[in-house]
Amino acid sequence: MDCLFCKIIAGEIPSSAVWSDELCYAFRDIAPQAPVHILVVPKVHIESVDGINAENSAVAAHIFETIPKIAAAEGISGGYRVVSNCGENACQSVHHLHFHILGGEKLSDRMA
Ligand code: AMP
Repeated sequence: MDCLFCKIIAGEIPSSAVWSDELCYAFRDIAPQAPVHILVVPKVHIESVDGINAENSAVAAHIFETIPKIAAAEGISGGYRVVSNCGENACQSVHHLHFHILGGEKLSDRMA
């Protein structure tokens, strides 16, 4: 499958890892939009939030258990934003489910 994030998970494309366990991988965004900008992805290929279902939702739950741990390790527990772009109108550019963690500064009070 020609998926950028699957290749990153497999180590075929380099990335700056911040977390890895049996279910998910987190790495620094190549074009950060905040002082801390991390992407958290499931190790299994899921296209987007639209692809979460009863069979794979444990992975999504695990990611949401992991996000606060990553935030704490990054020192941004005082406040951060979690975003997942889903589909064309949301400008999803990589079609492997991912959650952006944005923090390290006071973020805009607008979402877009
Ligand atoms: P989205 O637009 O929500 O699909 O987010 C995709 C994100 O992947 C963007 O923020 C990109 O900057 C980021 N990105 C693309 N290629 C890489 C890469 N090789 N390593 C790290 N982040 C990447």
